[in-house]
Amino acid sequence: MRTSLFLLLSATFACAEAQTVSSPDGRLSLTLQTGTTTTYSVTYDNHVVLEASPLGLIANYADLATDLQLVKTQVDTVRNNYDMTRTKRAHSDYRATRLRCQMQNPKGWPIDIVFQLSNNDVALRYEIDKRKDRETGSIRVMEEKTGFHFVDGTTAFVCPQSASMIGWKRTKPSYEENYVYDAPLSVTSQYKQGWTFPCLFKLEATTEGKKSKNVTKNYWILVSETGVDSRYCASHLSDFKENAATIAFPMPEENNGNGTVEPAFALPGATPWRTLTIGDNLSPIAETTIMYDVVEPLYETEHNYQFGRGTWSWILWQDNSICYEDQVKYIDLAAGMGYEYVLVDNWWDVQIGRKSNPVNGHSIEDVIQYAHSKGVDVFLWYSSSGYWNDIVQGPINCMDNSIRRKQEMRWMKEMGVKGIKVDFFGGDKQETMRLYEQILSDADDAGLMVIFHGCTIPRGWERMYPNYVGSEAVLASENMFFDRHFCEQESRNACTHPFLRNAIGAMEWGGCFMNRYMDRSNQKRHPRVTTDVFELATTILFQNPIQNFALAPNNLAGLNVPDGKEAGPAPEVCMNYLKQVPTTWDETRLIEGYPGKQVALARRHGEKWYIAAINADDVPYSFTLDAKELGIDPATLLLYSGGNNPVLTTPKMKKGKISVTISKNDGVVFVTK
Ligand code: CA
Repeated sequence: MRTSLFLLLSATFACAEAQTVSSPDGRLSLTLQTGTTTTYSVTYDNHVVLEASPLGLIANYADLATDLQLVKTQVDTVRNNYDMTRTKRAHSDYRATRLRCQMQNPKGWPIDIVFQLSNNDVALRYEIDKRKDRETGSIRVMEEKTGFHFVDGTTAFVCPQSASMIGWKRTKPSYEENYVYDAPLSVTSQYKQGWTFPCLFKLEATTEGKKSKNVTKNYWILVSETGVDSRYCASHLSDFKENAATIAFPMPEENNGNGTVEPAFALPGATPWRTLTIGDNLSPIAETTIMYDVVEPLYETEHNYQFGRGTWSWILWQDNSICYEDQVKYIDLAAGMGYEYVLVDNWWDVQIGRKSNPVNGHSIEDVIQYAHSKGVDVFLWYSSSGYWNDIVQGPINCMDNSIRRKQEMRWMKEMGVKGIKVDFFGGDKQETMRLYEQILSDADDAGLMVIFHGCTIPRGWERMYPNYVGSEAVLASENMFFDRHFCEQESRNACTHPFLRNAIGAMEWGGCFMNRYMDRSNQKRHPRVTTDVFELATTILFQNPIQNFALAPNNLAGLNVPDGKEAGPAPEVCMNYLKQVPTTWDETRLIEGYPGKQVALARRHGEKWYIAAINADDVPYSFTLDAKELGIDPATLLLYSGGNNPVLTTPKMKKGKISVTISKNDGVVFVTK
């Protein structure tokens, strides 16, 4: 049912005005306060979780932040009941209270500030109309004042924004930095460029409990943004100053200096939504769908995209494996696993060759045809290039130009290629957001799904673009191959992403190694630190609708690997698990966890539950699964455990519960029959 309440206020009313709205369950409240600076503050269960924080923006034609007057407010309810195919849930029934504050500056320039409060989420944005008495067809946003003023004692779990035009072939920023954990807000970011979304905050608050005993609880806030498309830049948080951060725009140097920092859009129009997900535990964070709830599909597709699992040679066998002979081995592996896809990574245009320049008698078209003969579909790698970095890995110069891009995509459509992985983007400017959108839109015309690497985070894109799959935007599995340090950090990262990077959108991690050593021979270079069962658990913890697993042909018994360079197969119990694991989910439930330390998470695919628990802490993790809490019949549960001696057993349940102790870098997986 829709209810609406119109409240008319005089524009000449001089003193400050306060407006308060609450979520449907009443636990989350927001107050807007006018004044020289218009602010909003947020409470949860009557605890202040966000102090008065500034609002407004500076347009090229007017200051839309100072001395704004409230012209009119409107409160109504919003409902968005919809299905999804590729995210942590198959369905969302979003219900929110909406507060629209129609404001204007002293010279009469309008700006609407819109808030939507669902039970655990605040979404806010600016909607800007034309002015009838002036020619205003467009806005250039010079600066956003939108801020987040945290209460004293709040700590942050955040990832620094990289400086631009640094790193591999001058490709940064690409959201591949190290998190800081539980840091006081006096922390400064590594590059002094602030923090990338999403940012997680923790604060303590004390409530009077039963018999006047005080109860101290942690409250959590995840700050992010959604609905960013070609009509705005991607933003991040500034460094903290006196417990507060503001929305920060890209750096001028990004994209090799090309494109403006300040976004622009046509009027009437709106900024992206800034979101706060708030709860007294981490479940609302890990389970949030706010990034999908407030956006809509931007185009319809005529294609029925199929998600699934893939193999890719590059992750372990690297550049040299991008040849016809090794791609055949990885296609055979995909076929042997029953996987849907093989991903042919960089250099295929040179090392395998196109039809016009086949290498050793075979071209990429032969690879595609061989894959199809085995029932495996193909993803092809491309550089996004471009004039924004120094990437030489081919194919280059195919995705940045619409004429060349459409030509390439027509060829892929003819060949029956199903998707592309486009790598090495130029940062977060609006110009780069336009490129993401153009690639997605053109790819859909050709029936191609799109994976992004070396890129920004998705911002509602699973719902906005029907052929979008996932994005890297994380220190992903490749770093484990490159550097022992990242093997040592794998469990910590895996205990982080369900609450941060992967909480806001698909994460193309590209992992689940069955090799014990990070080398083709599986006998040298540095070892994997986590156990086999831990690796299985990551297939549930990491959500991406197409999972390219880091398996190697030698992992699967019976595969013909004729040169004998690779060591023997991985445990059969693991490979059997990996043959059936799904990649799309109907439901996600966080059981418990703490960022960087432990996590226990349950996901349902159809009728079948998959429950993963892992530990990154030196202290062993005692995990108790209560089957009934998840609505699971305890008699249907099976347990993968045993670390590097993996076994599949029927767990001994007591009153529907079972407790397991998980050592550092180990994990368990429960599945229902
Ligand atoms: Ca990367």
